[in-house]
Amino acid sequence: MIKDIDNLKVKLAAFLEAQRPLYTQGKVADYIPALAEVCPKSIGACVATINGKVVGAGDYQVPFSIQSISKVFGLVMAMNRIGDDLWQRVSMEPSGQAFNSIIQLEWEKGVPRNPVINAGALLVADVLTSHFSASKLAFLSFMRKLSHDDSVYIDCHVYESELAHGNRNAALAYLMKSFGNIESEIPEVLSHYFTQCAIAMSCEQLANSLLFLANKGIDPVTNEVICSPKDAHRVNAILSTSGMYDQSGEFAFSIGLPAKSGVGGGVIAIVPNYGVICTWSPPLNSFGNSVIGTNLLANLAEELGLSIYH
Ligand code: GLN
Repeated sequence: MIKDIDNLKVKLAAFLEAQRPLYTQGKVADYIPALAEVCPKSIGACVATINGKVVGAGDYQVPFSIQSISKVFGLVMAMNRIGDDLWQRVSMEPSGQAFNSIIQLEWEKGVPRNPVINAGALLVADVLTSHFSASKLAFLSFMRKLSHDDSVYIDCHVYESELAHGNRNAALAYLMKSFGNIESEIPEVLSHYFTQCAIAMSCEQLANSLLFLANKGIDPVTNEVICSPKDAHRVNAILSTSGMYDQSGEFAFSIGLPAKSGVGGGVIAIVPNYGVICTWSPPLNSFGNSVIGTNLLANLAEELGLSIYH
């Protein structure tokens, strides 16, 4: 795959410069007002490999709001905590709806389609709040452990902003509670969920922290088992079918990697047995995925032949 790391650095920088002017093609998320304060021209990308190589370009060391990328970590924590019981409460199918859609949830009696749409992530947040005495702290500690970096932090401004504008997520959570699929009190669930979304990390930190998913569940730096190989497979499968929301089909068709986006403009992609790519550019397309971030992943996947479907 990537044999020549110096060459990759040059290529990555060139791809990034070619994409830089295209920031006007998307729109920075503003339904969480604090996210709209981010410079739309920010752009960064990082490739981290399981054998310890890290290549970055642009703003790859600048922290940004990870938002829905946090759903990947929450899912791993919940799987580790309650095992297969989780799959009684959330399904593993693509939703074919927007990430924050409410309509399907009533038809399907409060059981979310998958753990990476908002309803599913709120369900996971409920599992964490009801099974950890201090779930927010446990979450932050998990992120710091995985990134090997204690500087990872919660952006309180983003947290407060989402809390003040979180009515749709509240509606999803209350609807699930009405079907008996949420155990904790809703304000507690929302507070946990908004906290994990408000974590700030750079492309480099995110790429490093997800290497275990490219390495059958094992942190390649410490050799610690983060999750079972079976669960690493399951998370990658869910990211392949649902991680880019209602653009997941097109993403698989054209790029072919398990991936997860966030409305902060970050996208992570797992390259099994190789490494992780993280891109960041805040302007989003209509699916809530970073326009430039997706383009950069397409560039890299093609250049390096990374598709898992080859
Ligand atoms: N915190 C955001 C929300 O719930 C996360 C959405 C996303 O990143 N797609 O709306």
